[in-house]
Amino acid sequence: MRLCRYTDNQLGEDQLGLVRDDLLFDATAALENLPPLTWPIPHGDHLIANLDVLRPAIEHAADDSHPVPVSSVVLKSPVANPSKIIGAPVNYHKHHEEAVADQEINLGRDVKTIDTYGLFMKANSSLVGPDEGVALRFADRRNDHEVELAVIIGEGGSDITEADAMRHICAYSIGLDMTVRGTEDRSLRKGIDTYSVLGPWLVTADEIADPGHLDFEIRVNDELRQKSNTEQLIFDIPRLIAYASSFMTLYPGDIIMTGTPEGVGPVVPGDVMHAWIDGVGEMSVPVRAHK
Ligand code: MN
Repeated sequence: MRLCRYTDNQLGEDQLGLVRDDLLFDATAALENLPPLTWPIPHGDHLIANLDVLRPAIEHAADDSHPVPVSSVVLKSPVANPSKIIGAPVNYHKHHEEAVADQEINLGRDVKTIDTYGLFMKANSSLVGPDEGVALRFADRRNDHEVELAVIIGEGGSDITEADAMRHICAYSIGLDMTVRGTEDRSLRKGIDTYSVLGPWLVTADEIADPGHLDFEIRVNDELRQKSNTEQLIFDIPRLIAYASSFMTLYPGDIIMTGTPEGVGPVVPGDVMHAWIDGVGEMSVPVRAHK
C-alpha cells in the first residue's frame, strides 16, 4: 500500500491518498474510523498507530473515489506527527572517505563513523513533503543534499533486538537529510525548517521484500550526485532499530533516516533535486531561499 498526505485545491489540506500506479485515490473518508483523541495525546503518529486497523477502510474509500494524477496535488510528508526523527551519521564507508578528504565537510575535524557517534536527532518541525520544497538558510555557507532510505516505525518498543527489529517497521519512504555545513552540533545544522524531506509517499513494509538491497540515487537538476545501494550501510536496518531503541522508546511513526552514501554536494536556490529508491518511488524537490 502506498499512502500519501496531500493538499488539493478543491478538497483542502491534509487529505489522505492511496496511490495505485501513477494515480491518486482520495481515501480521506477512512480517517473517520480513527479513535478520538483527547489531551494529552499519546506520543507518535495517530494514523500510523492505527494503520493496520484502517487498511480495509482506506481501500474501500479509495474504491469510491475518482482518481487524479499524483502530479496534480501538493504532496506533504506522509507522516504527520512523528515523536522523533532519528539520523544516522557517517553510515556508509565511502561517505566517510569523502568526509575525511573534503575540508568543506570536515572543517578540520577528525571524522569518525557511526560506531563512534551513534545517532542524532532532527527537529520534528524540520519535516516537509516533496512539494513543499527546501528553503535554504545561511546562503553564505554550503548547504548539502543527503539522500537516504527512511524507515518508519509501526509497532513501538524499547530494547528491540536485531532479530525482532523488522517486525517493528511499518513502511519506507525516501528521506532527504539536508545539512548546512558548519561547526554547530548536527541537531542544529540538520534541524532547520524544511531540512527533513519525506516522500513521495510511504510504501508499507509488505511491499519491500529486502530493504537491505535497494538501489537509490539523487540527481540535482540533470547531474547525478549520489548513487548507491542500502547493502553498503555500516549499521544495517535491524542494527539501527536495535541501537536506537537501546536508548529511547520508539513510537509509531518515528522516522529513522538510515544514512547517506558518498556524493553529497551543495544545492542553491533554483535547483531541483530528483531522488529515487527502487521499489519506493521517486520525487522532485525544489530548492529556494528562506528569505
Ligand atoms: Mn544523513
